[in-house]
Amino acid sequence: MRITDVRGRVIEMPYPRPFVPSWAPEGAHDVMSAVIVEVETDEGIIGVSGGDMGHGTGPMLLEAIRGWIRPQLVGLDPFATTHVANRLRYVAEYVFPRPWVVGVAVWDAVGKACGQPLYKLWGGHSGAVRAYASFGEVRSAQQRAEDSLRAVEHGFQGIKLRVHSATIAEDVAQVAAVREAVGPDVAIMVDANQAAARWRYAPDGSRMIWDYDRALATARELADLDVAWLEEPLPRHDYRALCELTAAAPIPIAGCEHNRGIGQLVRMLEDGCFDIFQPDANESEEIGALRDFGAMAAARQRRVIPHAWATGLGVAGNLQLCASLPNCDWLEYPYDPPVIVPEVFHSMLTEPLLPDSSGLVGVPDGPGLGVELDYAAIEPLTVQQV
Ligand SMILES: [Mg+2]
Repeated sequence: MRITDVRGRVIEMPYPRPFVPSWAPEGAHDVMSAVIVEVETDEGIIGVSGGDMGHGTGPMLLEAIRGWIRPQLVGLDPFATTHVANRLRYVAEYVFPRPWVVGVAVWDAVGKACGQPLYKLWGGHSGAVRAYASFGEVRSAQQRAEDSLRAVEHGFQGIKLRVHSATIAEDVAQVAAVREAVGPDVAIMVDANQAAARWRYAPDGSRMIWDYDRALATARELADLDVAWLEEPLPRHDYRALCELTAAAPIPIAGCEHNRGIGQLVRMLEDGCFDIFQPDANESEEIGALRDFGAMAAARQRRVIPHAWATGLGVAGNLQLCASLPNCDWLEYPYDPPVIVPEVFHSMLTEPLLPDSSGLVGVPDGPGLGVELDYAAIEPLTVQQV
């Protein structure tokens, strides 16, 4: 089998109302911008994948596909995934830092050729993964308590809150209100989104929000609320501070969704930068290499819980990775009604990936990613393609 073409498109899914993610200093978003990749082969199999390409970067990936990725991959045997990974690493180094979504599409073709879901090719650890509702906005404590109760009614056993307020007291008040509302048995995760330089400032750019002392003080307060982990508390390249915080904090510290490449991941694992590593199959490194990284982390008793703020198609790739790992116990599931809902985020799939009444997302039985694109839904959303 040979790869004969690599295609990409940018889609824009209108939000039901403007969405103000905690990490966006530019303000409200009107659409979810995402990419869909197709890898065609000479046996008629087409591998697909997709990911979040916010901040206007989708067209840059398309340009990378047209100018570098397509010429590099056409003619390769898709089963030669290590060769695919190395060629994508070249692209990541010199052209565009997040080409990994293409590697997921190659793996989807491999799974389809084998007639098996990817997680079974990678060890088949679990046929379903517990999903947590990943909120995106910072809302009032009372609103978040109500939102959380509704998410729990839908089956979610875990909820991730965003904290981006001026003071620790305001951040903690939101978490305390949610703990009070949902009781002791629902997991609460907290994401500070401080790893990317641009997100570390107040919306008007006037001041930096978190430093080491604030991160540790916050972690101590969150421990009293039995928080499952504190995510991205510090800049992603401040390795020494991350190691010290992970050693000192009374709750698990999570991160690395913004660290790229297997070299950085392994170094951070060896140094003990996090308790929980969150590489994303579409954004961080080639998905097969992330499966290997999961095994390395398991050998050091560290968890790998991939970042998956993405469309249903993007979640599908990370779901296969999660289901293959014995040291992954949650799936990130973007969910923040009335904006971030499956009707929008999964609209490119013929069957949305939905949690069941106990919060589990089953891995589809189909081969590869196990999902099918709904082209009738995708065409009107497409704004650019190569
Ligand atoms: Mg995060």
